[in-house]
This record gives sequence, structure tokens and C-alpha cells, in this order.
Amino acid sequence: MADNTFKALVLTQENQQTIPAIRQLSIADLPAGDVLVAVEYSSLNYKDGLAVTGKGRIVRQFPMVPGIDLAGTVLESDSPDYQPGDKVVLTGWGVGERYWGGYTQKARLRSQWLIPLPEGLDAQRAMAIGTAGFTAMLCVMALEEASIDRAADYPVLVTGASGGVGSVAVALLANLGYRVAAVTGRPETQDYLRGLGASVFVTRDEMTTPATSPLETQRWAGAVDTVGSKMLARVLAETAYGGAVAACGLAGGVDLPTTVMPFILRGVRLLGVDSVMCPISRRKQAWARLVRDLPNSALGGIARVASLEEVPQLASDIVAGKVRGRVVVNPNA
Ligand code: NDP
Repeated sequence: MADNTFKALVLTQENQQTIPAIRQLSIADLPAGDVLVAVEYSSLNYKDGLAVTGKGRIVRQFPMVPGIDLAGTVLESDSPDYQPGDKVVLTGWGVGERYWGGYTQKARLRSQWLIPLPEGLDAQRAMAIGTAGFTAMLCVMALEEASIDRAADYPVLVTGASGGVGSVAVALLANLGYRVAAVTGRPETQDYLRGLGASVFVTRDEMTTPATSPLETQRWAGAVDTVGSKMLARVLAETAYGGAVAACGLAGGVDLPTTVMPFILRGVRLLGVDSVMCPISRRKQAWARLVRDLPNSALGGIARVASLEEVPQLASDIVAGKVRGRVVVNPNA
């Protein structure tokens, strides 16, 4: 039988303010679920930043244990699919939003949300990849399925390149043989991005300046866009004939001030990517690809480890666009 009490980061709400606090919980406090997991690592994603700071309407009910992903070991299971001792990983499904998430030493979950930890990964590396890296892989798969050619005349662009999704997307694309261009608002991250495989650099200012006409000079064979809004509009106007843009993020806003011209006159395809409700078969495929295609060397430089106590400050930092790469959260630190 598992130890009864454990530590978690708990969000409550008072006067419309979200208040994070470290609490001692007991197993009996946990919501229903058929699997109890000892959480070894979770990670910090932009959505976690919005949840913990209360800046986005992410959390649907309080109290809430945030953390939209986790990796750990099954302690108890009523599911035929998992036995105590099994290593598992979870991203998405509304965990950390509607259901208690990963910023805790123990979590009770639904077995259908889990997948077995892929061979070749440990819990820390799985969360160094985390939701951000998993989403980057889904974006790369979407571009591959759109037949974006590695030998195209133009590079593939990654926006929000120094962030979590962006960093992994740069590393994956470069390792797969694409020429990678990176948009960043932080010139000081150029060496870091070059180390991940980017070879062309564009400033955020340039790419958020509205295009002067509906179609600009062709510059990109395709793109992974984590920013949205003016940035995505500009990327679409500069995407080459037959290109595709995998759009997954909204760090720059939710609007999209574009025209139909890139779609009609250049056949550009806008591919929406969602990691939350992604079917299990595609999840397994994406994780297997991450094991194969994301170089160990890239992740070592991308991720750093934080404790639960550090999460509130890091949440403010990620919403302010100040976090570089990935942050792994160790609830036992
Ligand atoms: P990060 O904060 O780590 O990265 C976002 C990056 O975008 C920043 O590092 C910064 O990069 C850039 N940026 C931040 N603010 C702005 C702004 N106002 N205008 C232009 N660029 C900006 O977040 P993540 O990588 O974790 O997530 C990125 C986006 O993807 C978020 O919107 C997130 O919600 C979304 N997402 C979507 C998923 C899905 O399933 N569709 C899953 C995971 C994430 P730089 O300084 O280099 O310019």
C-alpha cells in the first residue's frame, strides 16, 4: 500500500485571483480514477503558465492540481492494462485543466489517458520532451504528411523558436535534414538555436510587421507556428507555392489577420495541430518518432529541472516569454 500523505501544488481561487500553494494531501483527497501513479516528473508548458498565474481561463474548477503532463510509475491499478511498477506517460486530455494534473507526488488518473513509457526514455527525458516536444513532433509529422520537401529551395520556418515547442521543433527538423529558419524575439538565443540546428535567423519584429500586400516574396517551404496572430498572417503571406504551415500556438494572440490569397493563389495549407485530444495510436506513433528522431544532445541543452516551489515564479516567467527551452518539474525535489 502506498504512503498516505504527499506534497502537491494546489491552486485555489479567491476574489477572482488564482492562488498557488504547496499543500500536504492524502490519497483520500485524490479524485476518482482507476490508476494511482507515483509522479516522477512533470513539465512546465505555456498553458501551465496561464493556469498557475490565472492569466488564461485554463482551469475549469478549483481546487486544482495543475500540470498538463506527467511521467511516473503505477502504484495501484484497477485496470487490466497497467500493473504496479509499470512506467507510464501522460499528456493532454484536460489534465491540469479539468482534472488534477502532474504537479504532485501522487496522481489518480484514468488508465485510458496513459501510454506506456516508450522504450528508450526515462521519466525525466520524457518530460524534458513533455507536451511541448510532443506537440512539436505532431507539427513535424503534419508537415511530412503535407510532403514538405527537405530539398526545397526555401527553409522551414519555426516561430517562437526559443520556447519549448519551438526549440524541439528546430532540433527535430534539423535532425531530419530540413534547413531550418528560426524567428525569435531574443537575439541572445541565436547561439542556442544554432546549436539546435537553425541556420537562418529572423527577428520577431520583422515577422510581426504586417505584410504590405496579401502575398509577399516566397521565403518558406513550410512552417511550425507557435505564435499565431500577426506572426502567422505574415508567415502565410511568405509561404512558398504548395507549402504548409502547422499551427499549434497562440503566444502572440488568437486573432488571424490574413486574406484568402495564400490559400487560393499559392495553394498554401494551414494545418491545425492539437495535442490534447490526439488519438492514442497517433500518440504512440509520435512518441516512437521522438525516441528515434530527437537527438540526445539536443535535449540535454534544452531542459532544466525545477522543484514544485519554483513553479509559481516560472509560471510568470513563461507567460512573460522569458523561459528558454524546457523546464522539467520534479515533485520530489
Ligand atoms: P513558450 O513560452 O515556451 O514559447 C513561446 C515562445 O513564443 C516564446 O519563447 C517566445 O519565443 C515567443 N513569444 C512569446 N510571446 C510572444 C508574443 N507576444 N509575440 C510573439 N512571440 C512571442 O511556450 P510553449 O512552447 O510551451 O508553447 C507555445 C505555444 O504553443 C503556446 O501558445 C501554447 O499554448 C501552444 N501549445 C499548443 C499545443 C497544442 O496542442 N496545440 C500544445 C503545446 C503548446 P522567442 O522569444 O524565441 O520569440
